[in-house]
Amino acid sequence: MKHKDLVRRYRIADDKKFRLKDIAPADTWKLKSADEARSRIEAGVTRLRELHDLLYACNQAAVLLILQAMDAAGKDGIIKHVMSGVNPQGCQVYSFKAPSQEELSHDFLWRTTRCLPERGHIGIFNRSYYEEVLVVRVHPELLARENLPPSLVTPDLWNQRFRDINAFERHLIRNGVVILKFFLHLSKKEQRQRLLARFDQPEKNWKVSRADVQERQYWRDYAEAYQDMIRHTATQDAPWYVVPADNKWFTHLVVAEVVVDALESLHLKYPKLNDAQRRDLALIRRKLLKNG
Ligand code: ATP
Ligand code: MG
Repeated sequence: MKHKDLVRRYRIADDKKFRLKDIAPADTWKLKSADEARSRIEAGVTRLRELHDLLYACNQAAVLLILQAMDAAGKDGIIKHVMSGVNPQGCQVYSFKAPSQEELSHDFLWRTTRCLPERGHIGIFNRSYYEEVLVVRVHPELLARENLPPSLVTPDLWNQRFRDINAFERHLIRNGVVILKFFLHLSKKEQRQRLLARFDQPEKNWKVSRADVQERQYWRDYAEAYQDMIRHTATQDAPWYVVPADNKWFTHLVVAEVVVDALESLHLKYPKLNDAQRRDLALIRRKLLKNG
């Protein structure tokens, strides 16, 4: 199984007819077990560490990873396992929960914009501004809390948000930010299993909430919102990766390979010194040797 094929398989870019049901949450393509994927995941994590070092040294591009999913789809697991190798100094994770009063008092891109990664860094958004066309769309009362001028709340609002997101991401790309967007695609059945495990295993109890179970009744609304979001915001330069999420090992494999692939395609090289800098370095080195 070729690396590029796996990355391409789940990549959605400019597909106005994209259908969520065309990707099976339990898909593992040609792999049959976690054992088959293990060494590939390890190799991916190791390569990611090297590439992150290079990204940091070059200090030019930044990478933004966006993770979106229904509850228990494994966003935390991705951050814990796939990103386990990267240097914490050059990587920041932000989790976006229900907005505070201060956040509600600003435009919908404000709170995430303040957390964008700087050059040389990887930024991870655990949920993001995309919640503004997902949970806010599924629950109209959340939009009401944003207190927009009534004349702006029209049926075109969601399309306007899509266009604004596309424009915002284009702006980031033009400023050297590589954007990788992942939708971890979980089935309702597998979510039930994972939520039950959180009830049944004491060390997982802290993870479960009433809301997780309540939101399940809106499953179809969420699926529609996700599909519409992907149709409108998957672009050539900022595609969505719709990653099957019923098998955690497969999710980890796909995400690791997509991130590695994106970093490889930057063709980064460690910064080279010019002649004067090299001479200077040689001089300092000699001094260090001489003076101890
Ligand atoms: P966990 O895996 O720990 O459950 P989580 O990301 O689901 O992680 P929670 O605290 O359970 O974290 O949920 C955060 C909640 O905040 C989600 O229900 C999400 O939809 C909601 N949320 C995030 N952004 C917004 C937003 N802009 N407006 C309204 N609700 C939001
Ligand atoms: Mg949750």
